[in-house]
Amino acid sequence: MDIHIVAPEAGRDYPRNWSEFLDWFGSEEACLAYLERLRWPRGFVCPNCAVAGEPYRSSRSRLMCRSCARQSTVTAGTIFDKTRTPLRVWLAAAWYLTNQKHGVSALGLQRVLGLGGYETAWTMLHRFRRAMVRPGRERLNGVVEVDETYLSITDRDTPVSTSVRKSRKCRTHQVLVVIAVELLQPKGFGRIRLSRIANDSDEQVIPFVQACIEPGARVRTDGSAAYRSLSKLGYDHQRTVMLGSTVPAHVSMAGVHRVAALIKRWILGTHHGSVQPAHLDAYLDEFVFRFNRRRSASRGMLFYRLLQQAVATDPVTYSDVVRPLPKSVKRA
Ligand SMILES: [Zn+2]
Repeated sequence: MDIHIVAPEAGRDYPRNWSEFLDWFGSEEACLAYLERLRWPRGFVCPNCAVAGEPYRSSRSRLMCRSCARQSTVTAGTIFDKTRTPLRVWLAAAWYLTNQKHGVSALGLQRVLGLGGYETAWTMLHRFRRAMVRPGRERLNGVVEVDETYLSITDRDTPVSTSVRKSRKCRTHQVLVVIAVELLQPKGFGRIRLSRIANDSDEQVIPFVQACIEPGARVRTDGSAAYRSLSKLGYDHQRTVMLGSTVPAHVSMAGVHRVAALIKRWILGTHHGSVQPAHLDAYLDEFVFRFNRRRSASRGMLFYRLLQQAVATDPVTYSDVVRPLPKSVKRA
């Protein structure tokens, strides 16, 4: 995948502001042309036979490969596959989602776009969240802090009508999340990775470290025995034993504690503390996407990155979103 090679430019690759957004995306054709350029920056490549070359265009959205004659569309095989929502609405949602520093709740998106149903807004947000993890992203490196924290979430965020939501009793769940934060020199934080885990055993935390952190990196943890094998696995493991220490945890593990506080504030603020436990992973993906791009000079750049990944992402159906597959399951 060559999606991050050329530096995109404001005003050429993405709109500089809302007024430019309106100029660019006034019609479905304009939106399709934009997504086509993002999906095939060097020109159409047939999803069926992989032969490159300008396709036949039988209608505004049908593309036919000159080599194998298979028909496809710009949105087939992406998160926009088979959507009934106009692309103009999708792009406006992407713009709003990336221009709000802390994101948006489904109810907020429904209101600002004037969408008919809460369910539509909810599904759009979840499809975009699927596009927030870039395939093949690099592992963290350098000095990385790792620790676990509990998040308190309420299972109110379900795609049902407002009346049902109001009448339903909400339950609060404590979920354990493991956090990895790169520490920069002389100070500051780099990128992060998050994952929900079932418990704080080595079977849970070690695969997370291996998936997220480059071997050879210096990994700082507390005294927990779960991390004991890290040195053997090729990491430069630094253990800080807290027990009886006079240094409080928020000082000795400053990065993890800062990130944990930000996630908690984000869930309480943007999402009103209401995240269904089954969908927590998707919310964590969104948080990582935002955090790792927090210094991006332009919000338009985030819009561009999100759509770029959206057209490179497998299609997601409504039932996929409602019943998410475990992360380890390979999607067909
Ligand atoms: Zn073909």
